Amino acid sequence: MATSSPPFRTGNGYDVHRLADGLELWLGGIKVAHSKGAIAHSDGDVVIHALCDALLGAANLRDIGYHFPDTNPEYRGIDSKILLGQTMNMLREKGYELGNADVVLCLQRPKVKDLIPAMQQCLAQTMQTDTDNICIKATTTEALGFVGREEGVAAYATALLVRTNCI
Ligand code: MG
Repeated sequence: MATSSPPFRTGNGYDVHRLADGLELWLGGIKVAHSKGAIAHSDGDVVIHALCDALLGAANLRDIGYHFPDTNPEYRGIDSKILLGQTMNMLREKGYELGNADVVLCLQRPKVKDLIPAMQQCLAQTMQTDTDNICIKATTTEALGFVGREEGVAAYATALLVRTNCI
């Protein structure tokens, strides 16, 4: 690691998946009961995909599509928690640890308010961090746009990394 590496680094991530009837809906590492699910090469978990990109961005390690391309059959239907675990390994190998992460999930339906603690717990376990370091917020888009029309689901994430030798 370069000695000029800053003690703190931030990153942001964004992801979208289309929704279709009869598919599974995975959000924040858990399966959500709903009539629609994500069209995706992986399990289509936008919360985890946005989070991975925020983490990779903070560590200057490119993006999720670079490391886990959707052209690779190895990643077909893959549990995104595996990708998140591998992402954490990459940033730790580069000498960083998670400070905290904050995610905004944009979804018109269903209401996921009651599922958020389970998502936090699941992600914290996958990332080997405290649940207090993972915040997940959910919003509708007031029936506007592709999220509002229930054509898709989106997520935004930010992450703060701390250089390991500064902890
Ligand atoms: Mg994605």
